[in-house]
Amino acid sequence: MQLPFAESFKIKMVETIQKSTRPEREQWIKEAKYNLFNLKSNQVFIDLLTDSGTGAMSDKQWSELMLGDESYAGASSYYKMKNAIQAILGFPYFLPTHQGRAAENVLFSVLVKEGMLVPGNSHFDTTKGHIEFRKATAIDCTIHEAFDTTVYHDFKGNVDLEKLEMVLKSNPLEKIPMIIMTITNNSAGGQPVSMQNLRDVYALAQKYGIRVVFDSARFAENAYFIKMREKGYENKSIKEIVQEMFSYADVMTMSAKKDAIVNMGGFIGFKDEELFKQASVFGIVFEGFITYGGMSGRDMNALAQGLDEGTEFDTLDSRIKQTAYLGSRLKEFGVPMQEPFGGHAIFVDVKRFLPHLPKEEFPAQTLAIELYLEAGIRAVEIGAIMADRDPITRENRFPDLELIRMAIPRRTYTNNHMDYVAVALGNVFARRNEIKRGVKIVKEAPIMRHFTVELERL
Ligand SMILES: *Cc1c(COP(=O)(O)O)cnc(C)c1O
Repeated sequence: MQLPFAESFKIKMVETIQKSTRPEREQWIKEAKYNLFNLKSNQVFIDLLTDSGTGAMSDKQWSELMLGDESYAGASSYYKMKNAIQAILGFPYFLPTHQGRAAENVLFSVLVKEGMLVPGNSHFDTTKGHIEFRKATAIDCTIHEAFDTTVYHDFKGNVDLEKLEMVLKSNPLEKIPMIIMTITNNSAGGQPVSMQNLRDVYALAQKYGIRVVFDSARFAENAYFIKMREKGYENKSIKEIVQEMFSYADVMTMSAKKDAIVNMGGFIGFKDEELFKQASVFGIVFEGFITYGGMSGRDMNALAQGLDEGTEFDTLDSRIKQTAYLGSRLKEFGVPMQEPFGGHAIFVDVKRFLPHLPKEEFPAQTLAIELYLEAGIRAVEIGAIMADRDPITRENRFPDLELIRMAIPRRTYTNNHMDYVAVALGNVFARRNEIKRGVKIVKEAPIMRHFTVELERL
């Protein structure tokens, strides 16, 4: 008999989590203004809000904390992080930042000016936020297959090269400071980009003289999918694949809270010394001196160790198989999802789950509330609330996909937790026709409103 899959780690420390009753949850979600970001963590049993900064560090990472060098300038921890970035990712220059969006803030302060266009594959919400904050426009050139959850495609994160070339051809090139490749494509459902697509985008960018920036939060998961799905890569190691991927980028931004498995941290990697120097000015103003940039020495150490572990096949295999396990359990209940399953999360297709709810009543947010009420599980809306209003017309934007995302923290929950989640959402699916009304917004911020929005049930 073939041996079943088993995780390549064991548990050394545990944290208690709390169950609750439905009446308690009804009270709490009401007090939270039906915004799951407002819930206290002890009001949540299984927290799938995000996989960002919520993973479990290894014993080696915890050991590295003790070796942290907290010198203001020139700390050994800075060099440890520098060496890891050079060796694993191939970037000779870097700036540490306190998290991914801070990396975007520093880099875009140099590159993005009012009226500019930034094409790419489904920019992440903070990325788009930083672009629009500077009165520039993000143009999504993702392949159309990404927006249809019922079609299978190995690499739904890919850029449509014709769409991209159209943008490059029909605009003055000085208006396009960069192309951003998000790996994996988070907004489209944690979907990978193929090596071929990265290569083709880079060739196109070179033809037009435009730099390519990788938004790299889940680059290692992307490499795993290339190994599993793309011809010619099955026998390559994750680290070899990662090296080739980044050979098609000029700059990278990184939220280390994802694939570097730390609770806080980020950085920008540069191949060009001149751009690094320009960005350093903003890095010093916004984040801190160039050898710590918003991070403590111990955190830089843990990040360096995490980059190494996060690019090991076994780490990724355990993680991505757990995501697929949750997906396969939900499939048994008939729950409609983005497929193939992404790396870090399961994305439920709410347009197919609650087809009777009008988009103006925010069906994805409604479902996230229902799932919380059912079992104390916290997911997140990736739909019209997160899409914000159009910055010019101020009308609500209704994206093609209305999703809830259940993101799985790294090395944190067991498959029993996944079973619990599957049954809970299966129960909601069974009573979906009883969910007759959605929610309305009563208070919202002008940008990135989903974090603080206040809602009422209709
Ligand atoms: C999380 C994330 C970011 C932002 O990083 P933070 O660390 O949350 O600031 C940017 N891009 C992608 C693709 C992400 O997943």
